[in-house]
Amino acid sequence: MSRFLAEKYQGMEPYTPGEQPQDRKYIKLNTNESPYPPSPKVIEAINAEEVSKLRLYPDPEAKLLVQAMAKHYGLLPSQVMVGNGSDEILAFCYMAFGQKGICYPSISYGFYPVFSEIFGVKGQAIPLKEDFTICIDDYKNVGKSIVIANPNAPTGICLTLEQIEEILQANPNDVVMIDEAYVDFGAVSALPLLEKYDNLMIIQTFSKSRSLAGGRLGFAFASEELIEDLNKMKFSFNPYNINRLTMLAGVAAIEDQAYFEQCSARIQKTRAYTTQALQALGFTVLPSMANFIFAKPSAISGTEYFTRLRQAGVLVRHWNKPLIEDYVRITIGSEEEMEALVQITKEILQV
Ligand code: PMP
Repeated sequence: MSRFLAEKYQGMEPYTPGEQPQDRKYIKLNTNESPYPPSPKVIEAINAEEVSKLRLYPDPEAKLLVQAMAKHYGLLPSQVMVGNGSDEILAFCYMAFGQKGICYPSISYGFYPVFSEIFGVKGQAIPLKEDFTICIDDYKNVGKSIVIANPNAPTGICLTLEQIEEILQANPNDVVMIDEAYVDFGAVSALPLLEKYDNLMIIQTFSKSRSLAGGRLGFAFASEELIEDLNKMKFSFNPYNINRLTMLAGVAAIEDQAYFEQCSARIQKTRAYTTQALQALGFTVLPSMANFIFAKPSAISGTEYFTRLRQAGVLVRHWNKPLIEDYVRITIGSEEEMEALVQITKEILQV
């Protein structure tokens, strides 16, 4: 740390992303990326001609992409916002709606408390129930904004639409952000609730179900007024937040519904296979609707399982934190990768 860093940031603990190792080839199941490449239409859309246009700034309103998203999801373009990953959208939300504080589940996406710190927002972590589910009564009349990942991460557990609606109804004067980064693997989106609730903000991403983590593209759906607020943040911070190539990639990806459905179905099938195979080896596996599972071995500790997998060339995610230290989060990879994970797990457990 230099002697110049602002005092308020000196004690800040930054977010720790999952490793992106370059030292050897791993089976990489640690950052919830898709095992499949982007749609062939994305690859076609990024050609030499488009690359040569990189000398020009991109459209700050990202009109083509916003219109394609609005059409696909049956919304008005004024109800759609796009961001440099959903992380950026979340950051704009903290800036715009953090004045009274923001609460979130105590076990959830690691960025929520980090954003509280950097934006000087009063964060409040609300404990989960013992079975890792969210107690919705804890989110009623909270007097501050709310952010909930649905499915939650790293558990993969979902709230129902009825539960989300109860939270919206109980907090009419505060923004409720539903982070649907993992919604496309069998969960239900809160999109149908948009017409009824002007305090609902839905946040999604192209990083998981549309295989574009490296393109950095997230989006939000909300009332025109809430989207206007987010745009105010964006145009005061980073007007050109979506680069030209990502914009084209996004449009091509959203238009290729068949490819999207095929990848999502494959991941759900592989998730079922992996869950069953690990359960047969004595693991506790939480009921996941995401492209990962949160699993606890019975014979060895979470730390040991994580370490032994790493030594064997398989990367998963592990947190040395109370309540979850016995678990690891395993991204659902390709069929072959998950068969290898199961085989290596058998070797580790000597069964
Ligand atoms: N929300 C949740 C719950 C996540 O796990 C992630 C992925 N790390 C994100 C948002 C951010 O995703 P991205 O910025 O790649 O859209």
